[in-house]
Amino acid sequence: MATQTPIMDSTEVKSERKERGYTRNLIRTLKLNQPDMPAVEIAKLLSISKERVRQCLVAEGLPTRVRPDYGECEVCGTALKAGRKAYCSTACRSIDCRVSFRCDYCGQAKAVLQSVYNAQKRRGYKYMYCSHQCRSFGKWEAIKLQPRMIVSVS
Ligand SMILES: [Zn+2]
Ligand SMILES: [Zn+2]
Repeated sequence: MATQTPIMDSTEVKSERKERGYTRNLIRTLKLNQPDMPAVEIAKLLSISKERVRQCLVAEGLPTRVRPDYGECEVCGTALKAGRKAYCSTACRSIDCRVSFRCDYCGQAKAVLQSVYNAQKRRGYKYMYCSHQCRSFGKWEAIKLQPRMIVSVS
């Protein structure tokens, strides 16, 4: 009596399904722990195809695309949204408005934040210096010049 041989052994089918479930779980765990990990990286890590990773992510209802990195706001460090180049908001942009001036000691051009410049002016600084070194040299020059001026007068 001839018996029909199944096309595929049932146990084989089961292990194949188990294997698939295992990979899917692994991808899910990976993606949840590292949301920024691109599908290509997951594929490399598990040595499976990128398409397979994508299918698994779709099946798990997880995003297949990683949000591109637009960098951080130059003022507050917030992650930037698409379309923003350097600042997260107009408030941050106005804070980071730079002013350039020439150092009163060495004459080098230097750019500082508008807020920093304003604060120095508010404090009544007559001179603007490019560095702490120039500032201390500048102060020293001023002290040195004053007595000399008195001497020349007398
Ligand atoms: Zn900001
Ligand atoms: Zn200087």
